[in-house]
Amino acid sequence: MAARKPLIAGNWKMYGRRANLGELEVLWRSISPVAAHVDALICPPAPYVQNAAWSARETGILIGAQDCGTESEDAARTGDVSAAMLADVGARFVIVGHSERRALFGETDAVVRRKAQAAQRAGLTAIVCVGETRLERDSGQAGDVVVRQVRDSIPDDAESLVIAYEPVWAIGGDRTPTPAEIDEIHHIIRGTLAQRFASGASDIRILYGGSVGPKNAAEVFAVGGVDGALVGRASLKAADFAAIILAHPAAK
Ligand code: PEP
Repeated sequence: MAARKPLIAGNWKMYGRRANLGELEVLWRSISPVAAHVDALICPPAPYVQNAAWSARETGILIGAQDCGTESEDAARTGDVSAAMLADVGARFVIVGHSERRALFGETDAVVRRKAQAAQRAGLTAIVCVGETRLERDSGQAGDVVVRQVRDSIPDDAESLVIAYEPVWAIGGDRTPTPAEIDEIHHIIRGTLAQRFASGASDIRILYGGSVGPKNAAEVFAVGGVDGALVGRASLKAADFAAIILAHPAAK
């Protein structure tokens, strides 16, 4: 099996304006020497995806989106943005099932699965997010929750698929699981994928997300089953995001 190329993805959430796309040039200046060894992805808010793809066109930075609609075809879905539209304006990836969408917009595993399928049909790579709440972890259910989410949220096609393990309680704060806790859940996810796909799906990258920053990135990347990171706050500043990318052993 060829080694999985690390993927470090930045989720800008609903932050920034067009001017922030200037960060892409700054980022590229820092990471271009290591870009052959690490995939760097930025997912700006939807209105800026096209401009981001244009700004990044002569760099190795990949551009993605943070969400897409469930429908593959053009449809009467006011306010929705389809995966095909995102692909049309230069996105290569799309995040689906982020815990903010699950919690604030009521997205179920079934909805997340339809979005992931729509993404794949449009030629995008779907980054499917899973992760337990603090309550679920404290009551010993973290593994079961993540297995259920993986089983029910992922599409039938193992191609163009990335999983992001993001414990909800670790997002947007300053608490992270221990390396042993990350390792345990990543193993559980890998095992679930192996059961689900005849191929074993060993090419699927499994990212960790939740308060990754320049200070703890090396520790996270040292965990055996971690194939990269999904980064929120620390992806907004090129210097911080570059420091995370450069902390990956593949960048040394
Ligand atoms: C996220 O929202 O996906 C995330 C990981 O956020 P943060 O890095 O800010 O915790």
